Amino acid sequence: MDSEQLREYGHRMVDFIADYYKTIETFPVLSQVQPGYLHNLLPDSAPDQPETVEQVLDDVKTKILPGVTHWQSPTFFAYYPSNSSVAGFLGEMLSAGLGIVGFSWVTSPAATELEMIVLDWLAKLLNLPEQFLSKGNGGGVIQGSASEAILVAMLGAREKVLRRVGKNALGKLVKACQIAGIHPENCRVLKADSSTNYALRPELLQEAVTKDLEAGLIPFFLCGNVGTTSSTAVDPLAALGKIAKSNEIWFHVDAAYAGSACICPEYRQYIDGVETADSFNMNAHKWFLTNFDCSLLWVKDRYALTEALSTNPEFLKNKASQANLVVDYKDWQIPLGRRFRLFSFPETKFNVLHRNICILKLLCVYLNRSLKLWMVLRLYGAETLKSYIRNHIKLAKDLEQLVSQDPNFEVEYMTVFFFFFLRVVTPRIFSLVCFRIVPVDNDENKCNNINRNLLDAVNSSGKLFLSHTIYIHIYVCIDLRGKHALSEKIVLRCAIGAPLTEERHVKEAWKVIQEEASYLLGKMQA
Ligand code: PLP
Repeated sequence: MDSEQLREYGHRMVDFIADYYKTIETFPVLSQVQPGYLHNLLPDSAPDQPETVEQVLDDVKTKILPGVTHWQSPTFFAYYPSNSSVAGFLGEMLSAGLGIVGFSWVTSPAATELEMIVLDWLAKLLNLPEQFLSKGNGGGVIQGSASEAILVAMLGAREKVLRRVGKNALGKLVKACQIAGIHPENCRVLKADSSTNYALRPELLQEAVTKDLEAGLIPFFLCGNVGTTSSTAVDPLAALGKIAKSNEIWFHVDAAYAGSACICPEYRQYIDGVETADSFNMNAHKWFLTNFDCSLLWVKDRYALTEALSTNPEFLKNKASQANLVVDYKDWQIPLGRRFRLFSFPETKFNVLHRNICILKLLCVYLNRSLKLWMVLRLYGAETLKSYIRNHIKLAKDLEQLVSQDPNFEVEYMTVFFFFFLRVVTPRIFSLVCFRIVPVDNDENKCNNINRNLLDAVNSSGKLFLSHTIYIHIYVCIDLRGKHALSEKIVLRCAIGAPLTEERHVKEAWKVIQEEASYLLGKMQA
């Protein structure tokens, strides 16, 4: 490492990135290249001799950027946001600069202790129950993604239940996913529909649990949601938690996107009932100004994780760990922790998979992600973060208003037949607005086609980027026969949450959507 070269190149790189942000609005938000485009632009083999940083940056400008979809663009409204910020960026730099490999406390005490402190800070901002704080048996840990966080929680739950009912019961465990060694047939996807604004009905859960218990199966893990990916639906946590508790089911709450909003007192209500949960996750890398990746997981019982995930080969042993004085985060995550499991369930496919994961992960570097979260919390402070969230929600509310005023569109609604049509607009909760064009004749197929076409037209304009989802829509026909009809609706999603998004960007985006919609509707009627 040549310090002077780092200084020189580093300055140049920072300038490059700063210029990128300055000009980010000039790029098409969604990359417009065709598959394989880069093969034609880059050589077939690696260079034999070193090249200069200018040569590389020139290539980034001319060859790489055209193939980049600009997630930080102020008109990126697809999926959910993935925030970058100056603080997050500086944290990443520092983390890369220190090059910490912090899997055990001893490998960098500050890495572990900072992570514990920062996760306690955030737990307090979210007003999570005390049991999630690190001073007792609980605590938080940073994972790479929400999927990883949920998997880790599920593995903890699996270990806990197997200790209770015996290890031979693995095949009877219900819920969860293949990677955790649970047979897909034993995974229950409980359908939600428009009748509850896409939140899970507790009665449905109770029915499924009862049925499985009667069949001799063991329900052991339930994942509830605060802010689903499709439509930001919020499950009734307290009711679900009650069912989970009375059946000894581990209850996990996934608030990957909406968790950030819950630091604002007026949105905290959406995680009411979290006190019934065993674990909770939110992604700081979505809507909390923390560069990807930084997914936060809290558990009430850290030993459920460590019993499932710890490993202690001779080469990792040290006095602090042996004396049980410290937290070793390697035991709260998938890396390193899987070898031990191999011998417990040698017959499952899962173990072969995990043996491979283990070998790979043994070789990989654990960056200290808490540094960037710490930077974010310190350089912005809780009040700025709350204003940041509130501003996006206000922009979403304004957009929702605009959509509802346009007769060509509808925001998500629920239709109830009761001798007459009653249309109820489902409230937008956070910063996601879901809407669709409705052609005059209300033909469902036509409606879906025109919405798909609208999505393509808007996204290929390069001016903004939206994504879509499908809603299962129930028409409740109260015709004394209790008949329900189902239909699938394509709905467009506009998730407001990029750090650079201002009111003007939302207004301009809406104008583009309206223009494209008018054109498509005109063409359809012609
Ligand atoms: N859970 C929810 C509610 C999400 O919205 C998402 C992604 O948008 C995920 C989980 C998956 O997140 P990750 O990509 O961090 O695994």
